[in-house]
Amino acid sequence: MIELNNVSKTYRTGKIPVYALRDITLEISAGEFVAIMGPSGSGKSTLLHILGFLDRPDGGSYSVLGTEVSRLTDAELALLRNGMVGFVFQQFYLLGRISAVENTELPLIYGGKKGIRKTAYGKLEAVGLAEREDHRPNELSGGEQQRVAIARALVNDPMIIFADEPTGNLDTKSEEEIIHILRVLNEQGKTIIMVTHEKEVAKHAHRIITMRDGRIVSDELKRQQITEQTAKRTDLSVSDILSQKRSSFARIEFVRHLRQSVRAILSNKVRSFLSMLGILFGVAAVIAMLALGEGAKASIEQSLKTLGSNLLSIRAGSAKVRGIARAQGSITRFTLDDVEAIRKLTHLVSNASAYTSGSGQTVYKNENWSTNIQGVGFDYGKMRASIPEIGRWFTPEEITRREKVVILGPTVVEKLFGDKNPVGQTVKINRVYFKVIGIAPEKGFRGHRDFDDAVYVPVTTAMYRVLGKDYLDGIYVEVKESDMIEKAQEEISQIISKRHRLYKNDEDSFHIRNMSEIQEMLTSTTKTMSLLLGCIAAISLLVGGIGIMNIMLVSVTERTREIGLRKAVGASSGDIMSQFLIESVVMTFSGGLIGILLGAGIALVMSTVVGWSTKVSLLSIILSTTFAVAVGIGFGLWPARKASELNPIEALRYE
Ligand code: ADP
Repeated sequence: MIELNNVSKTYRTGKIPVYALRDITLEISAGEFVAIMGPSGSGKSTLLHILGFLDRPDGGSYSVLGTEVSRLTDAELALLRNGMVGFVFQQFYLLGRISAVENTELPLIYGGKKGIRKTAYGKLEAVGLAEREDHRPNELSGGEQQRVAIARALVNDPMIIFADEPTGNLDTKSEEEIIHILRVLNEQGKTIIMVTHEKEVAKHAHRIITMRDGRIVSDELKRQQITEQTAKRTDLSVSDILSQKRSSFARIEFVRHLRQSVRAILSNKVRSFLSMLGILFGVAAVIAMLALGEGAKASIEQSLKTLGSNLLSIRAGSAKVRGIARAQGSITRFTLDDVEAIRKLTHLVSNASAYTSGSGQTVYKNENWSTNIQGVGFDYGKMRASIPEIGRWFTPEEITRREKVVILGPTVVEKLFGDKNPVGQTVKINRVYFKVIGIAPEKGFRGHRDFDDAVYVPVTTAMYRVLGKDYLDGIYVEVKESDMIEKAQEEISQIISKRHRLYKNDEDSFHIRNMSEIQEMLTSTTKTMSLLLGCIAAISLLVGGIGIMNIMLVSVTERTREIGLRKAVGASSGDIMSQFLIESVVMTFSGGLIGILLGAGIALVMSTVVGWSTKVSLLSIILSTTFAVAVGIGFGLWPARKASELNPIEALRYE
């Protein structure tokens, strides 16, 4: 079944090459029980590893069931390790985190088999450990651990069992049990190849090969025993074994890897949590910031809607005249007649109001307060939602007669009157007596500006009696329908140019703004802000990803032996790679999930405690989850590759 011809192996790690195997020529038939003996360092383990597809020779040929092994790929060798052979090591190499039965299952997992729990349980029963299936390795004695390892070697029903000093770490009684199990297996038809340096152990074998300095010095055949069963099985060829297709491999694998990853993460709770923090805060920041941005946008849109979207604001602009900048209003000074002219465009305009503003001192008895004086026309009340709920709006006559009546903003009322009703009282504004006729409805803050800190007087009164100017600061116009806005802007612009005899050059001397322009300005500001926040989020995700990569590298180093064992029982490089990739993605994904909760929590706190409006959007959740997963894949790739490229034997020997 096994044929070696002039096989050699040289280690060249140090300065002097170590010739571990020299010209080994050897034939082993199916059903044999072979003991390989010899002093320490004579090359026994090296030979066993080559025979067991864990390592490749440097020279010579090795064929198994008539197939030359050097022609097989690494993935095919993994399949052979999984399906054709089983290993028992001196150090047992059980995985500490999982139970006896789960350890036994490992080769079945990589073989993509179904009903694995039952098979594994059956093998544990066969080695006399049926009751200990749920025990972890550290709850078992050495002998029991080795029996679990034998069950694991048997679980895929291999042709050959390789045992490397299987009793080296055991007491005499356990040694006898293990040898007994191996003998029974041999009688049942398994080929057993065992390395040992104890004569007591070797005497149970049927053939004893002795090695020294990498050569076979004696080959002693005591008796040969080949059963019918064995003869039948050796009819198989390597390609038969390789073609035993792994059934529904991907899906089973994924679920199992997932479970294992969760377990690996949970077994290092604090460490995993700490390494998740970067991603967690990154995602929380993204969610909270986007929620704030969305909320701000929504509230801006809301307040623009209350302002009226058909509103035009006409203001005098500062223009350059022959290259010299003039003060605002220095070219075009609007008059009340302009307002009347605009109002005559009845096919487009529904309302128009003059306005002017300035600052002033308001006094009531001993209280005084400096505020903003708004001189407004009659239409302003309904256009800007300013008609008082307590008291009344101005009458058109009051406006034409420049009467001294005032409507106070809520902040001014509070400063001057406290809880008292101001309607009917008299206040002094810039030393002129005014009668209070109403309280303006609350408008609140926009940014830092308090819109309630203002007093409203007729525009005529403001101009001639309080502020002392004979021109307006601007005109508000309400257009009938929103699709008439452009036309209205055009016609109003013509009227003003004509009335003020403006030349082409002077067109900058006033401008007409509509609310959609203001809206655009605001959204572009929010966009810049979002971009900035996005950059911060990207940086924190990057830092988080580096944290994950670091911890995954540590994890790979820490679990080098586990990786070696997994490869020894038949895991391919791809299996190992996906295991570690899934682990890093599970880590970033759960970090992301907690981050989403935290971010949403922060948004909630900001909206309830600070009063900022926030809105957690589905898009931001999907976006940050995708990012978290991408970071997991991106930064887990290198450690996972590193793990998958480990040589099984070197990994097993790693201290
Ligand atoms: P045995 O199992 O008989 O004790 P080994 O097969 O383990 O012997 O080793 C044979 C020789 O090869 C020894 O001299 C050992 O030091 C050397 N050797 C084994 N593995 C390596 C390795 N990975 N790198 C360098 N030298 C090695």
